[in-house]
Amino acid sequence: MPNTLLTPATGTATAPFEYEQLENSVAALRVSIANRLVYAVGKDLRSATRRDWLFALFHAVRDRMMHKWRETLAVSQDSDAKRVYYLSMEFLTGRALTNALLSVGIYDDAREACTQLGADFDALIDLETDAGLGNGGLGRLAACFLDSMATVGLPGMGYGIRYDFGMFAQKIVDGRQVEEPDYWMVNGNPWEFMRPEFSYEVQFGGRLVQEGDHVRWVDTDDVIATAYDTGVPGHELTSVSTLRLWTARATSGINLDAFNKGDYMRAVEAKNESENVSRVLYPDDSTEHGKELRLRQEYFFVSASLQDILRRYLKSHGSFEQLAEKVAIHLNDTHPALAVPELMRLLVDEYQVEWDAAWALCQRIFSYTNHTLMSEALETWPVDLMGRLLPRHLRIIYDLNARFLAEVHDRFPNENDLLRRVSLIDEHGQRRVRMAYLSVLASHKINGVSALHSDLMVKTIFADFARLWPDRFNNKTNGITPRRWLSQANRPLSALIDARIGTTWRRNLDELKQLRPLADDAEFQSAFRLAKTQNKKRLAERIAQETGIVVSTDSLFDVQIKRMHEYKRQLLNLLHVVTRYQQILAHPNANWVPRTVVFGGKAASAYYMAKLVIKLINDVARVVNHDKRVGDKLKVVFMPNYRVSLAEVIIPAADLSEQISTAGTEASGTGNMKFALNGALTIGTWDGANIEIAENVGLENIFIFGHRTEQVAALRASGYNPRRYYDHNYDLKTTIDRIAEGAFSPEEPNRFHDITRTLLESDYYLLLADYADYIATQQKVDELYRRPNEWARQAILNVAGMGMFSSDRTIREYADDIWKVKPLFQ
Ligand SMILES: *Cc1c(COP(=O)(O)O)cnc(C)c1O
Repeated sequence: MPNTLLTPATGTATAPFEYEQLENSVAALRVSIANRLVYAVGKDLRSATRRDWLFALFHAVRDRMMHKWRETLAVSQDSDAKRVYYLSMEFLTGRALTNALLSVGIYDDAREACTQLGADFDALIDLETDAGLGNGGLGRLAACFLDSMATVGLPGMGYGIRYDFGMFAQKIVDGRQVEEPDYWMVNGNPWEFMRPEFSYEVQFGGRLVQEGDHVRWVDTDDVIATAYDTGVPGHELTSVSTLRLWTARATSGINLDAFNKGDYMRAVEAKNESENVSRVLYPDDSTEHGKELRLRQEYFFVSASLQDILRRYLKSHGSFEQLAEKVAIHLNDTHPALAVPELMRLLVDEYQVEWDAAWALCQRIFSYTNHTLMSEALETWPVDLMGRLLPRHLRIIYDLNARFLAEVHDRFPNENDLLRRVSLIDEHGQRRVRMAYLSVLASHKINGVSALHSDLMVKTIFADFARLWPDRFNNKTNGITPRRWLSQANRPLSALIDARIGTTWRRNLDELKQLRPLADDAEFQSAFRLAKTQNKKRLAERIAQETGIVVSTDSLFDVQIKRMHEYKRQLLNLLHVVTRYQQILAHPNANWVPRTVVFGGKAASAYYMAKLVIKLINDVARVVNHDKRVGDKLKVVFMPNYRVSLAEVIIPAADLSEQISTAGTEASGTGNMKFALNGALTIGTWDGANIEIAENVGLENIFIFGHRTEQVAALRASGYNPRRYYDHNYDLKTTIDRIAEGAFSPEEPNRFHDITRTLLESDYYLLLADYADYIATQQKVDELYRRPNEWARQAILNVAGMGMFSSDRTIREYADDIWKVKPLFQ
């Protein structure tokens, strides 16, 4: 039955259609918050909970974004401008309130208004739940891009999944990670708007019926995707972007017939089952697990998004002729790669476009970002599974592949191995669809996320394709939004920068280079150090609150926060910690630079090694922190539940940023950018965007160590033997022996044998090969920290050099070089 509620309303107001005037003064905000508390939340002063006050505040700021949001949508529609659609399985947006207050420009006034109403503004702000709809860097990048699209004024939107459960919450119990479900909307989600008029059927399963040239996909199990929209405000409300997330609803006409007549309860149970597709975010970073539900999720959101994109296009166009002039679709990694066969299916099966014409459109519309070169992270799906779940798409992929391989054969008739290598189907063992190759085949532009990664991409995983189509490959070095990661997270430093160079760096981050002359200014150095100390105090309080560990703000804050992964080498950092601990015990009266080493990060729930490293960090912390002989010279902290809002507290307080992945493994990193922008010095390998950071802040202002990519390759090729390093380095040997003997786990001496054995027997990520240089470089860090003015000088030069790492720069490059989309607002 059609839902008549969802048809366009035809009535027009005859009386003047007037709005309440929303001013941004303290008095007006006070009235707004009180009004929202009563009229939107339905409470009053007597009955309001903290949640009610918070929601009243949400509504007061949200109201002030609405006209710009509607205007942004109206202008993009009326101008018929080309729009970009950013398809991503993950959007790790974190909290929205402070960002919205700052974007609208009412942060200080709203704070004052709350105070006058008797509400504790800072406490309220801290009650907002993070929207953790992502694992790590990839999802956070998508969130920064939405912020930059809104700030730059680009027409377009993000599409993703409205997971009921986001990234799990991490508890540390007995030093081990325990995962708890993140039911993030338990108190409601005041930022989103349900848009039931934008609902689409998404088909699964069934079978194909060939009718002449035409294929019909029938007997499917269908799910409804319903849109929920969230506005993403740009800086100073230049424009407001839309994030449209899909939630799964059972079809109302669910196969009641398939059940025993009258078995109402079972019918409803089946409905619940089909709604599972948007239930939970897969908490695996970088590794795919071939789970059917995951494939369902990928198709679910891609199909709904494409139906929505075509509907919007057809509202103002009578044919598909102009589709590629009006629509750009970006694939954030291969997770949305089913968009390619889905667009083909919609055009060919549903709208009767000729195959060749449809394919030509696809190749002009799609572009794709690769995020990793690691083979275990390259997504492939078993042909069997895809054939069962998405038979039409598998058929389309086969047809595309046949045509593609025929073309390759025409161009390189004597290279039969090439056909096997570039085929969309991996015929080795269980036949699988190669999603990265599908994405490359369909995309007119394919980019990596740092100069090094883009270079390696065309030399390794896509070497054959780069030979076929060299012009398709390009680099777009990642960036971060300076609004959240400096202006919002680090108010002391932001205020200092504002006082010296004005406030417009938030929009033109290159202006930070005006800080360069101030690097030698003693007065500026001391103000800079004061800001850092304020941030360190805030973090020290948070550490005490969450872990009970008391740390000194005079100590060097040495921080590594990111997903727990072997390639990121948290274990190398820990080897340094244990080495330092041994040396402090051996030379207690030496002039030690006191250090606080902070770790944070989640491990995928099934990642045994990563979880064991968390346990080892916590066991080392317990021993070191309780050793009276050590005192403030060394403290080790594992901060539980690393997430965006916690990053905003930790990063501004860091003195030293640990970016120590094995060269060639970290595609870009964005954590590295956040730290340098906040005046931390980096200790890092020649990897990912570390290289470009070094080039921009100056090689003399960063601590680079370790084997480079070519040396890593050479070392492996020559038959890497970690034991050689262990046998020849006394400190390394002692460090590993202590762990292996159970010095940190006396109640279970064998606890970490899997770690020490892996290090000595394979050490795939070359920790032992980089150990000596890492330790020596950490000594240089100490030496510099003893010279606070020189440290401050270098830290200031880091901030001053970070202009190019604004995601505004990144998004403009995508818009100009790839999407060909122009700003509508300036
Ligand atoms: C920036 C960020 C990341 C990415 O950090 P890397 O160090 O680049 O891996 C992951 N998680 C959160 C919460 C972040 O804010």
